[in-house]
Amino acid sequence: MDFVAAINLIETRNLGKIFGGLQAVKEVNFTLPQGEIRAIIGANGAGKTTFVSLISGRQSPTSGTIFFKGVDITSQPAWKRVRLGIAYTFQITSIYPSLSVYENVAIAARAPSSWQRPKQSPSKHPSNTLANDRRDDQIDSRVAEVLNRVGLNIDARRQAGQIAYGHQRLLEIAMGLALHPELLILDEPTQGLSSSEINRVSCLIQDLRATTTILLIEHNIAMVTALADTITVLDQGRILAEGSPHAIQNNPAVQAAYLGRSLPAMS
Ligand code: ATP
Repeated sequence: MDFVAAINLIETRNLGKIFGGLQAVKEVNFTLPQGEIRAIIGANGAGKTTFVSLISGRQSPTSGTIFFKGVDITSQPAWKRVRLGIAYTFQITSIYPSLSVYENVAIAARAPSSWQRPKQSPSKHPSNTLANDRRDDQIDSRVAEVLNRVGLNIDARRQAGQIAYGHQRLLEIAMGLALHPELLILDEPTQGLSSSEINRVSCLIQDLRATTTILLIEHNIAMVTALADTITVLDQGRILAEGSPHAIQNNPAVQAAYLGRSLPAMS
């Protein structure tokens, strides 16, 4: 029988982050195998956003090590991590409001190929013009593909700041997908969305699992329970529990930590 070892896309060892005197993330040992939908849950202030910010490179750790596919990326800046295949969307919408929907996605779609472009001074040679035209066509089709994939069927010439809030959140996911990520980190993608929009994001995440590992911070426990392969529960910067949605729902330590808080699937 063939045996293919699971690749750990992300591994952290004793990862920690201190803000002033506050230890937001404490000695976190975490592994995320390729192909999983992993949810991170925890009360407000548990350290979820800080933890994924350390993985994406938005924040630098105070201690510990981060590996991506076995390679130490702890000191790599965020843009290099994007290039390696780590994309993330923020808790708060971070589109370019004055640009069109198309341009927002095209900026992301252009990024990886521009990094692969050979370093040479621009020339007016006709073959370069042809290559540029081909690249523009590729970007057009990539933008159309990801907008279609997230279900954003609106006029892409519209100014991003003028479209509905739910559409802006989908646009943000589209921007992440245009980067061809191996790991997509979504920080509360459903915050502020209507129930039909939440359903749409759930279906999208389910659809993405075929090609992309997902690390999802989410307060909507019903959605997390339905989607995640594994749930990691953070509490005061530490991993309190980790396991299948069923195991987490029945974990007494998690129930105690959430006592009086909203965990609808547990009540
Ligand atoms: P929420 O669910 O409310 O988004 P969270 O679990 O994502 O919370 P974090 O945002 O990671 O939690 O915050 C963890 C702790 O670190 C909190 O006490 C927060 O106030 C603190 N913190 C986060 N970022 C900073 C910062 N830049 N400077 C100082 N303290 C910070």
